[in-house]
Amino acid sequence: MKTRLFMALAIAASALTASAAQPKVIAHRGYWDTTGSAQNSLRALAKADSVGCFASEFDVWMTSDGVLVVNHDADINGVHIETSPAKKVLAEKLSNGENVPTLESYLQLAAKQPSRIVLELKTHDSRKHERKAIKDIVAMVKKYGLEDKTDYITFSKYGFQDLIKYTPKGTAVYYLSGDYIPWQVKEMGGAGIDYSLKAMKKHPEWVKMSHDLGMEVNVWTVNEPEDMQWCIDHGVDYITTNAPELLQEILKKQEKK
Ligand code: MG
Repeated sequence: MKTRLFMALAIAASALTASAAQPKVIAHRGYWDTTGSAQNSLRALAKADSVGCFASEFDVWMTSDGVLVVNHDADINGVHIETSPAKKVLAEKLSNGENVPTLESYLQLAAKQPSRIVLELKTHDSRKHERKAIKDIVAMVKKYGLEDKTDYITFSKYGFQDLIKYTPKGTAVYYLSGDYIPWQVKEMGGAGIDYSLKAMKKHPEWVKMSHDLGMEVNVWTVNEPEDMQWCIDHGVDYITTNAPELLQEILKKQEKK
């Protein structure tokens, strides 16, 4: 009987914890799947903030002449960013008619918005170029007073270590690749894991392992309601999605329960 009572209490307590700590919504490449928007556009950054996302994620590259730009792929309309000058890269258009944004224009806008930003450092071909990108990113984030509003993510193993080294103490740097066990990420000084839904479904125990290590868990890119629910049920801290309003709706319904 006692055991049963304890069980019931434990379930009630865990349900309370779960409802108290709902995952936070991060717009993947901004909120782009909406009228007039495009992935990694300024419009997508503004739109993510306007619908109340916790944060907006975006991807950063450095051009051959050292200008930081926002784009997902290594190429934009056939122009290879890392080996092309800014003049050429910035002339390229996004699908909504905007030109490729500079990181500077992104940070200027982010500084005016209440929501946070999740800055992804892309893996550059040249490690030297990547390190320069990191140093310049960190300086620019500082320049716009965004140090407390910026989290960093990367697939790059070197970049991960460099970001931890060059960002101010206490900055959250998450690892994306899914090939490190959470304690390895902790040992390297990471704030948490930001792994694919596929990787997390293979290792659901990594949520608790991360939490026990004092780290947080972000999962990408979660677009289907049942996958969003899986993340909520498993107690992840952040969900990165292309459908932020759908996720917000699902979270709101469960808040009311
Ligand atoms: Mg990204």
